[in-house]
Amino acid sequence: MSRPVLRFAPSPNGRLHLGHALSALLNARMATSLGGRLLIRIEDIDRTRCTPELEAGVLEDLAWLGLDWEQPVRRQSEHFNDYAAALDRLSAMGLVRKAFLTRGEIARAVAKLEEERGVRWPCDPDGAPLYPGDEAVLGPEEIAAREAQGAPFALRLDMAAALARCTGLRADPLSWQELPDDEGRQAPARIAADAARWGDVVLARKDTPTSYHLSVVVDDAVQGITHVVRGRDLYEATAVHRLLQVLLGLPEPLYRHHRLVPGEDGRKLSKSQGDTALAELRAKGATPEEIRRRVGLAP
Ligand code: GLU
Repeated sequence: MSRPVLRFAPSPNGRLHLGHALSALLNARMATSLGGRLLIRIEDIDRTRCTPELEAGVLEDLAWLGLDWEQPVRRQSEHFNDYAAALDRLSAMGLVRKAFLTRGEIARAVAKLEEERGVRWPCDPDGAPLYPGDEAVLGPEEIAAREAQGAPFALRLDMAAALARCTGLRADPLSWQELPDDEGRQAPARIAADAARWGDVVLARKDTPTSYHLSVVVDDAVQGITHVVRGRDLYEATAVHRLLQVLLGLPEPLYRHHRLVPGEDGRKLSKSQGDTALAELRAKGATPEEIRRRVGLAP
């Protein structure tokens, strides 16, 4: 039997904080307990916010924490061709559409639709309004005019068509296998994947020719990831990942979504909260053991 493969996949758009430390350490611990391999993947598709200096800082933080990973690391910015190939396959299946609406236009269209219909417009699990569709908002003439002008557009998954295709490809409803959490409180379970809640998700933008969802699914397959261990904030995204895996004929990893580390104020940690940045804590004299304790991984 081949060995389990795990990955910690940070985005170098800031330094790592305590939440990343928990995720990285849980990946390392599980890789060790399963006799598996640990990979680091640099998720740097956002070329404006990710920098080589931040990447070096992230790797330095991980080494300081005591992580040991295989070389070389996979850097997503070096594999845009892989994501383009996956996008082409989805396109060839008729599942990708051009989307001309800008963020401002989406917000205005949704406000108008809510007023007309007297109901709240649905939001995706991250709280963003579902894409209302170019046809409904712009109409065929404006779409044609934008095409002719070469106006910028994103590429989105046609969710209804994708779900129909998925149903044709597999008899049982879309789902994923969730492993017990680190406290062992939650039993392993098969989770129903409700991708429709995300609407027509973005697969590529003009300035970034892929998206988080597309690149993560392609890379987990390319790297042979067997266990995806990541924060609870990405739990709902797993439905989209499973859908893309089925459509692209990619293997299904096991998933474990771990607790998040709250900030002092009980809110979710962000990269702008310097007081929980590992580099800052280290500069103030914290040791890797103290970090483990602070994230609830006492030896
Ligand atoms: N790059 C993502 C992040 O930093 C993690 C992606 C994943 O683990 O699937 O939040």
